[in-house]
Amino acid sequence: MAEHYPIAIIGGGISGVSFAHFAALKGYKSIILEQNDKLGGCIETYHSPKTRDFWLELGAHTIYNSYQHLIGFCHDHELLDQLQKRKKYPFKLLTPQNQIASVISKLNPIRAGLGLPLFKLTNAGNRSVMQYFSFVFGSHNYQKTLRYCFDAVLCQDSQNFPADFLFKTRTKDKSLPRSFTFKDGMSSLFTHTDNPNTKINLNTQVMSVEQQSKQWHITTDNGAFTADKLVLATPWHICYRLLAQINHPLVHIKQQPTVSKLITAALIFDKDKIKHIKPINGLIGVNQDFFSMVTRDTIVHEKYRGMTVHFKNTNVPYQQLVDGFLSKLNIAKDALIDLKHKNNSVPCYQSQHQQFINGINSELSKDISLALTGNYFTRLAVEDCVKRSFEEAKRILN
Ligand SMILES: Cc1cc2nc3c(=O)[nH]c(=O)nc-3n(C[C@H](O)[C@H](O)[C@H](O)COP(=O)(O)OP(=O)(O)OC[C@H]3O[C@@H](n4cnc5c(N)ncnc54)[C@H](O)[C@@H]3O)c2cc1C
Repeated sequence: MAEHYPIAIIGGGISGVSFAHFAALKGYKSIILEQNDKLGGCIETYHSPKTRDFWLELGAHTIYNSYQHLIGFCHDHELLDQLQKRKKYPFKLLTPQNQIASVISKLNPIRAGLGLPLFKLTNAGNRSVMQYFSFVFGSHNYQKTLRYCFDAVLCQDSQNFPADFLFKTRTKDKSLPRSFTFKDGMSSLFTHTDNPNTKINLNTQVMSVEQQSKQWHITTDNGAFTADKLVLATPWHICYRLLAQINHPLVHIKQQPTVSKLITAALIFDKDKIKHIKPINGLIGVNQDFFSMVTRDTIVHEKYRGMTVHFKNTNVPYQQLVDGFLSKLNIAKDALIDLKHKNNSVPCYQSQHQQFINGINSELSKDISLALTGNYFTRLAVEDCVKRSFEEAKRILN
């Protein structure tokens, strides 16, 4: 017999877990079905068995004090006691000649300076990142330098990404540091969230969903479930796959996001052996095989340093990518103490993305038994996921 729950949530990333939290606050019981052996999805802190207390992020690394909904979630779980401020260092470029250079040194300063007021005074409208930022900062600045900065922010070829969905001004909570993580890294978001109203089934991959007699029937590789309400909290391409099996009207919405796949490598180094690399926040790859590299220099450790490289999806073997990266930075192989690999993905919004959101929301407004949450709505940040979950919980639950 299938186990029955008022709410079944597919996906145990921040979108699914925050939805379960908002449902629990309203007194609803739910079950989270997660295919992996842990919660977190794109948020995963790697604790190396070789370095005791040193950890490194495999995905999201920073929370800003403007992430209102996420901060509320942290308050509810008493997580702010463990807040860890991040030190401020610059992001630099890794040029095609494998030189580390500042972003400013590669810009035409007059044209870039002119762009700042233009950026403040104009709207991107329906323009792509390439169209809008070539207009604002000049085509030369955009093509030679800035496009790589945007690629690094979004972890994808960002030229056709709708510019309107790139940045967002949010109200800051100035009682908190501008940017932070937690003492044990970002996975703390999932280690202090036990709730008697929420059952969590790990190692449970959902294969299909179907609606029969006002109930959702969910088939997994680890048992069957029924639920009054279904929450899809997976990336859009997975939602699409599940909904296409039942020819749900949502799969016919226009301007659907595609997906950028990444090969992420977290590298842990002996601090004494990479002294030639000054502390930095990270590197932006200019015509490189990676979009970005994010360091852990922002949280100093006495013995180790860490770099997480987000390589572009390629057929080149993973070890070859890592060896190439080390040689570009003149890092000897014996400086590397541990490495960990992960596959990540991010959504690529299409032009007219607002049409996609409107289409989804209009279809969902007819059905309070189904909710969709994730990073493919307003923006990619963790805050946008939690905000979407909050709004969807409000829509489908009394
Ligand atoms: C490399 C990288 C760096 C980032 N850095 C930042 C940052 O610093 N700050 C920030 O704010 N944001 C950052 N982001 C964005 C942010 O981390 C993500 O947008 C957010 O974590 C997505 O959460 P989610 O729950 O919507 O999706 P996911 O994290 O993808 O979670 C979806 C979950 O669904 C599960 N799942 C999928 N299919 C099934 C199935 N069939 N059955 C059961 N389970 C399934 C997956 O295993 C996964 O656990 C980053 C993203 C990436 C990839």
